[in-house]
Amino acid sequence: MAAAAPTDAPSWRRRARDFAERRVQPLAGQIDREDRVPEALVREMAQERFLGVGLPEEWDGAGGDTRSTVAVLEELSRASAAVGVLVAVHLAVCAVPILVEGTSAQKERFLRPLARGDVVGAFGLTEPGAGSDTARLATRYSREGSGFLLRGTKMFTSNAASAGVILVFATRDPSLGSHGISAFIVPPGTPGFSVAQRLDKLGLRGSETTELVLDGVQLPPESLLGAEGKGLHVALGALSGGRVWIASCALGVARAAFEEMLRTVRSHDEEWKRPLLARAFAELSAAEALVARAAERKDAGDPYVEAASVAKLVAARAAVSIASAGVDVAGSEGVRAGAPAERLLRDARVFPIVEGTTEIQELILARGLLANGPGPSL
Ligand SMILES: Cc1cc2nc3c(=O)[nH]c(=O)nc-3n(C[C@H](O)[C@H](O)[C@H](O)COP(=O)(O)OP(=O)(O)OC[C@H]3O[C@@H](n4cnc5c(N)ncnc54)[C@H](O)[C@@H]3O)c2cc1C
Repeated sequence: MAAAAPTDAPSWRRRARDFAERRVQPLAGQIDREDRVPEALVREMAQERFLGVGLPEEWDGAGGDTRSTVAVLEELSRASAAVGVLVAVHLAVCAVPILVEGTSAQKERFLRPLARGDVVGAFGLTEPGAGSDTARLATRYSREGSGFLLRGTKMFTSNAASAGVILVFATRDPSLGSHGISAFIVPPGTPGFSVAQRLDKLGLRGSETTELVLDGVQLPPESLLGAEGKGLHVALGALSGGRVWIASCALGVARAAFEEMLRTVRSHDEEWKRPLLARAFAELSAAEALVARAAERKDAGDPYVEAASVAKLVAARAAVSIASAGVDVAGSEGVRAGAPAERLLRDARVFPIVEGTTEIQELILARGLLANGPGPSL
């Protein structure tokens, strides 16, 4: 692995921790109860430049590398998983794919406002019949004059209810499989586009997930992101990078759960709780090391896809395992609605599913191991 370049991650972390403890933590219970992140808080995060971290200054981003982004997302998620995930989705699977695949005109029009935090971004890949198996997309596009016409339904689209830019994936012909899929940039005001319903969830409440309906959405030719037929490449590229981001959100929840557990054990120490605490710390440390390694690899320009999968897999498991042990040590108080341990367990439980399930990470990892051994990208 190449030597890691100097990073400004420590100063981003200090700023994000200070902001998260002052402004996010006090709202975490309310965000969970009301199932929404206050618009004013999103505006404050934009002012703090957290919605532009990791994006180049050339495009109105705040600069900073992957390690900086990971630090910000971990600190925000430590205070409220919903807030961390809102920012992670905005950056990783909306702004970054436009940065990587967009034309200069697309970057001017869509990336600049995203990077400034004037608008929030979303990513619509999942459908009622297509989750892990993205080749089963049923949302169709056809050519309409020089532009495109989209019809279909998207499910579990985070941020979409209040987004200013949404990436939507559609197929020209399902019989073409992955080669038929293209990516489109859809401004939500476009006629035919609507948010059909908000989906109530066990955890990550506040990170709005919605069903979207595209009922004859007419798009100009310049809405196509990347080459026609290369939409799956755009989606998988976004998700591979995004896994480092979502792993850092899971790490933030794991850390919050560990800290809550430590408080509980300190306030009522009993012999049987100590091994649970020690195990939780070991799991947290492993997740921390793997997230840091994936981020370092990405910053160094080294292959990182499998490293990101391991980080996501382990951090999501650690979050669930620590949050669950946290409920055990807290006893009945830990399962009371609104108790921090209870919210953390519900939030943690979503991470093994979101942005590629644990089983899908295992498939990616096994494929990499069989092809290359545990070398180049781990
Ligand atoms: C809170 C939340 C936010 C989300 N945000 C977004 C978003 O912004 N944009 C978006 O496009 N999607 C989003 N999603 C959707 C998410 O990415 C999918 O839920 C996920 O990819 C899994 O798809 P699925 O739910 O259809 O489950 P399925 O793919 O049906 O999987 C069900 C189960 O089968 C397992 N499984 C599936 N295939 C295999 C296989 N080949 N081998 C072994 N096991 C397998 C899975 O691991 C899982 O346990 C979100 C989901 C959640 C819960």
